[in-house]
Amino acid sequence: MQIDPGVYLVGSGQFGFDMTDPFDCHVYLFDAGETYVVFDAGTGMGTDQILEICRRDGLDPAQIDHLFLTHAHSDHGGGAAHLYQRLGLTVYAGPDTAKIVSVGDEAAVSLPAAKASGVYPSDYAYQPCPVGHILTGGEVVQIGSLQVEAIPTPGHSHDHYCYLVATPEKRYLIGGDAIFFGGKIILQNTYDCSVPDTIASIQRLAGYSFEALLSAHLNFSLNHGQRHIEAACAIIDQLGCPPSII
Ligand SMILES: [Zn+2]
Repeated sequence: MQIDPGVYLVGSGQFGFDMTDPFDCHVYLFDAGETYVVFDAGTGMGTDQILEICRRDGLDPAQIDHLFLTHAHSDHGGGAAHLYQRLGLTVYAGPDTAKIVSVGDEAAVSLPAAKASGVYPSDYAYQPCPVGHILTGGEVVQIGSLQVEAIPTPGHSHDHYCYLVATPEKRYLIGGDAIFFGGKIILQNTYDCSVPDTIASIQRLAGYSFEALLSAHLNFSLNHGQRHIEAACAIIDQLGCPPSII
């Protein structure tokens, strides 16, 4: 589904628009000219649907050469191996995400707890995927007409990165699970979820300038996206904690 010139939503689950597997996060695709760049991969259970949506939107999946992961959680990084097997693309991730994804470390993404709680199917397996490009904080990658800046944003998970994507026309913040519409966040009962780190990351994001906020669940904003960061910061400034979406 095209959402802006050269920008598509090609995957989304039940915390979004029910396009692909219910567990999938939003999967965004940017047309960079000769090549396509995808942000987050979904769980892997909806990979064929994601590729079918691309074809329906007139996008040749063979042109998807780059995949950036915001973090390793199953609904974002679990599908990396599935896209890699089908497309042979280059996976980009921060160092901690790369460590988890490259070996398929289920404990590191709290998958045993998620399965035990019934949140994930008991037969779900996190397949390891090679990460071809390990990002450092502040690194800017140029891909065709796109500039992608990697921004470390731990808190929701210890390994989380956001990405600032600049096209010739516009800047998009790929928010992952760090910040959502209305200034909300996701706090979970997981070993590496941290309120102080979450707040520090939101304050870091407040220093960036962008028009669109493309988060990994719920609504996205194509303009005035910074208002969601500002809404979170207004609560933080009063010593509060932004509300969690779960
Ligand atoms: Zn997550």
